[in-house]
Amino acid sequence: MTKIAIIRCEKNETRCPLTNCLKCVAERKEGFAGYDDCMLTGVFTCQCPGDNIADLAKILKSKGAEVIHFCTCTFAKKTNDGWDATHNGFCENIDVLIGQVNAASGLPCVKGTAHLPNGYEPKIWK
Ligand code: SF4
Ligand code: SF4
Repeated sequence: MTKIAIIRCEKNETRCPLTNCLKCVAERKEGFAGYDDCMLTGVFTCQCPGDNIADLAKILKSKGAEVIHFCTCTFAKKTNDGWDATHNGFCENIDVLIGQVNAASGLPCVKGTAHLPNGYEPKIWK
């Protein structure tokens, strides 16, 4: 059983209650397809400009998280043809923030959760 955590973006927190993220965790699909079994240990919402993201990462680790995932909507945008990673999502600095979380926690970090764009393989910071 792998204990996972999710970090989402405040720009989407009042529009999406993580519905598809949670569905994909439960069904081990999309960004969570690589786990034999997984459970959610917690969710944090990043707040611009992300200055406290290292602190959030450390707390998630202290709560038992073994891997931290970042929501697909942080880096991809919904289009008429589906989710597209060539359009920016909500965060133009998401790769920098993921690197900071990885460095602060020492945990693997995965860029992606639900509705992965066509052809996108989740990038992993180990
Ligand atoms: S990735 Fe999708 S389901 Fe998850 S928070 Fe973003 S819009 Fe909602
Ligand atoms: S720094 Fe990026 S991920 Fe964090 S709230 Fe702002 S836009 Fe969203």
